[in-house]
Amino acid sequence: MTARSFGPVILVHGGAGKVAPDLVEARRAGVRAAVVNGWQALAAGGSAVEAVEQAVKMLEDDPAFNAGRGACLNRDGEIELDASIMDGRNLAAGAIGAVKRIANPVTLARAVMEAGGSVLLVGEGARQFAAAVGIKECVADALVTERQRARWATLREEDTEGVGTVGAVALDRGGHLAAATSTGGLALKAPGRVGDSALIGCGTYADDQLGAASCTGNGEAIIKLALAKTALEFLQMGEEPMAAARRAVGELTARTGAEAGIILLDRYGRIGIARNTAQMACACIRNDNADPEFFD
Ligand code: ASP
Repeated sequence: MTARSFGPVILVHGGAGKVAPDLVEARRAGVRAAVVNGWQALAAGGSAVEAVEQAVKMLEDDPAFNAGRGACLNRDGEIELDASIMDGRNLAAGAIGAVKRIANPVTLARAVMEAGGSVLLVGEGARQFAAAVGIKECVADALVTERQRARWATLREEDTEGVGTVGAVALDRGGHLAAATSTGGLALKAPGRVGDSALIGCGTYADDQLGAASCTGNGEAIIKLALAKTALEFLQMGEEPMAAARRAVGELTARTGAEAGIILLDRYGRIGIARNTAQMACACIRNDNADPEFFD
């Protein structure tokens, strides 16, 4: 394949894992709506950062996903959210960890990025920052769905997967890349636990010189392998995007036995998707053809 740019391109995921049968259609509709939303930003000449924020925001608002409204509950029955975003143009990055009562964590992460200075804010400091930049808190119950409340009440310690984390990667008309990820984390997680989705290089990475990636799955394993950056380094070694994604997930499987998935773009906008789980709903729009393509 030639190395010409295919931009603009946007690719989104709705989390790796086994999806409850009654959620499969809702997840598919959700990633479709999100990819169209992100695409509209790109088509209007918006930046890759704008596109990934718009796509992820829509998935955070969709209760079928484990991000924003619909997020899973921690051991104490509370929602604590992680999110991050990165601009491949200049390596600017912003992230928040273990925040409560924020409906759109990706927007807060973007505000952290745009404020400059800190890359990652957590807990009370993140809350104060949100207030300072005018991002309003919601009541905690506004984010809790009946499904997640019921699941929390019946979950056992050995069945604590997240499933439904969301993420997006995009290449804009200017040839710039961005990535964003947002999650409620793992069900029954320890209060204060922060996963890969808040960590640059682990759940999210974007560099115009390399590519852009968003991960999902067991956060502890993804952190140990710095999976997003690792996958992009495979691109640098000359792997094709699909092969780089597969190699990254293969390495995680071999080294940790954990479950994960990844979406990525190389710097020309070619896509890579891999998972070692039963499902990971993904949708993509590329090549100036506004019809979404689906990958399950
Ligand atoms: N990676 C997320 C976390 O560990 C969960 C997921 O993607 O399902 O917080």
